[in-house]
Amino acid sequence: MGIHNLKPCPFCGGSAGIVVLKKDESLMATASIYCEQCNVMISYLDRDKGTTEMFKSPNDAAEMWNTRTYII
Ligand SMILES: [Zn+2]
Repeated sequence: MGIHNLKPCPFCGGSAGIVVLKKDESLMATASIYCEQCNVMISYLDRDKGTTEMFKSPNDAAEMWNTRTYII
């Protein structure tokens, strides 16, 4: 999977963590990668919910975090 192979935070170098949320109609994000130090976060949004899609999968979110090219 590689989803947990997260590089340090692009902003502060802190440790990154990932939260995978259970599918629920009340939740927009199904996975989030966050910094434990400065709390910056990126989220994978499920396209089925009709929300703005940032990433196609949690792995895409992890890849975006690791390549540090995402824009908040
Ligand atoms: Zn950070």
